[in-house]
Amino acid sequence: MRRTNYRLLAAAIIASVPAMAAEEHRELGPHEHGHGRLNIVIEGKRVSMELEVPGADIVGFEHEASTTEQKATVTKAKATLADALKIFKFPAAAHCKLADAKVAIQAEDEHENEHEAAEAKDGDKAEGEAEGGEHHHSEFHVTYAIDCGAPEKLTGIDFKYFDHFAGAQELDINLVTAKGQTHYEVTRDKPNLKLGEIG
Ligand SMILES: [Zn+2]
Repeated sequence: MRRTNYRLLAAAIIASVPAMAAEEHRELGPHEHGHGRLNIVIEGKRVSMELEVPGADIVGFEHEASTTEQKATVTKAKATLADALKIFKFPAAAHCKLADAKVAIQAEDEHENEHEAAEAKDGDKAEGEAEGGEHHHSEFHVTYAIDCGAPEKLTGIDFKYFDHFAGAQELDINLVTAKGQTHYEVTRDKPNLKLGEIG
């Protein structure tokens, strides 16, 4: 019997190419519970901020809200997060007003599109599935647009944030102004940021 050696399979074993998802998907980097990130950009009268913080810090859990109580907690947290000037106190003299706030929840789970994002509104159409109890992370991502009538009076920010969210311990802050970029940390113990001379 003649034996034929086929060069088998080598061609058939093709590294599976990760599908380029059509929809935008932001991978969550590794996050540390208690630690959030806040980017602040001050450009003229406009203060743009972007907050990215583990769900654990904000609501105490990161799975999809399933019980009535959890859903209520998420709804309340979104409203509080959206109320920028209540959780990030600017000097009154700077005359700042919130122009826009968008709150979304970004979940780590890739195969569940329902987890992708929830708009700020009232919306919790969560389906009450606890996904077999496996742990996956989620984050609150919030963007703010704030307009300040007297931005030169922006001498600091008082982080009431820590009073509202018991799980939050620290925020890494990246501040960008016309003068450049600066990194700060504010913590539950030192919840103040001094901005000095900005204008
Ligand atoms: Zn997490």
